[in-house]
Amino acid sequence: METGKKGFGIEFPLKHSATGTTIFTVMSALATQHGAINLSQGFPDFPIDDALAQFLFDAAKNGFNQYAPMPGFPPLRQAIAADFLKRYGVKVDADTEITVTPGATYAIYTAFAAVLQPGDEAILLEPAYDSYIPNIEMNGAKAVPVGLTAPDFQVDWNKVKEAITPRTKAIIINTPHNPTGAIWDQQDWDTLAEIVRDTNIVILADEVYEQLVFDGQKHYSVLEHPELRERSFALYSFGKVYNNTGWKIGYCIAPPAFTVAFRRLHQFLSFTTNTPAQYALANIIEKGVAQPVGEVMQKKKDYFLDLIKETPFTIHKASKGSYFQVASYERISDMPDMEFAQWLTREHGVATIPVSAFYQNKHDDHLIRFCFAKKEETLKAAVDRLMGVGVR
Ligand code: PMP
Ligand code: GLN
Repeated sequence: METGKKGFGIEFPLKHSATGTTIFTVMSALATQHGAINLSQGFPDFPIDDALAQFLFDAAKNGFNQYAPMPGFPPLRQAIAADFLKRYGVKVDADTEITVTPGATYAIYTAFAAVLQPGDEAILLEPAYDSYIPNIEMNGAKAVPVGLTAPDFQVDWNKVKEAITPRTKAIIINTPHNPTGAIWDQQDWDTLAEIVRDTNIVILADEVYEQLVFDGQKHYSVLEHPELRERSFALYSFGKVYNNTGWKIGYCIAPPAFTVAFRRLHQFLSFTTNTPAQYALANIIEKGVAQPVGEVMQKKKDYFLDLIKETPFTIHKASKGSYFQVASYERISDMPDMEFAQWLTREHGVATIPVSAFYQNKHDDHLIRFCFAKKEETLKAAVDRLMGVGVR
């Protein structure tokens, strides 16, 4: 067995191949170190809705401080079910199909753990959120990355077909997509359904940015695809909806048999999820008092794209969803993207994420990712600094 660093003579086993610190931690720390404006790690820099903060206070004050039921606070599960009926017209059973979790990252891990056994394979599309591969490997399975091609980052379905083997147990997809801002249309889901039709492959649909879709486009949820829904875990994060990433509350929607398998692990991983936060979220959903996050981010995306036009960065594709925009620095430098992102942080005071960090083999298209979930003044100050970047 491979071993990790030794401490007190103990050999800690390496459970996955990503031995470094995550890029989000690295770039946020570098931003702090250099006093840079942080457009790297994805989190909003503006306050949460007052009503939501008040509900959290009410919960703590009114005694909602003990363990919630293992699958989640019942009014929150009911509110989620009502919300999906309203927004997507899909019926979800609050008792047998919804599990509230400590964030979506946890839900993704738990779904993989429910499905994978040592020796299995799981396919992912790269660039990909950086927890997928370690999560697959922690379960003894092999991660099989299939590349998406810049600048559209559309799926090459022949490559996906070629990657499937008799050992393939799961495919994880992410729409709207971090980091590229691409979104799937109905046809993508139909093609996926065709490919997996005669297999036992399980789909993990990471839809954490489902409410962040721009310019009148629609997010197609796996839950709207009756055939795929039967074999899918759909995974969500309230952090992206209520601008409270630090609350770390997410949920998993899956058919009853899948939910049983998921909860079998969840009950011994965290058992349950923060009660006051669940109370507050149930109330904000039911009362519908928060401004829809899609509207908030649409304005920020438009504002940021308008400003960045004046800088030497090139936008090949405007983000269609998520709160990220990918940009090329082809007119500025031919440095590798990791080096460029560090240089930009150090020399120009703006932190971003190098897109190669979303690839296992560090494939480098010389792209960086900006997070535009920020106050207008933050975006303006960042772009003012970017104006000072010279062309080569
Ligand atoms: N998936 C993707 C694609 C993400 O960008 C994030 C954001 N961190 C997550 C999952 C995890 O969300 P959470 O913060 O709820 O764990
Ligand atoms: N999802 C966020 C991003 O992509 C950050 C998540 C994290 O820090 N792990 O920036």
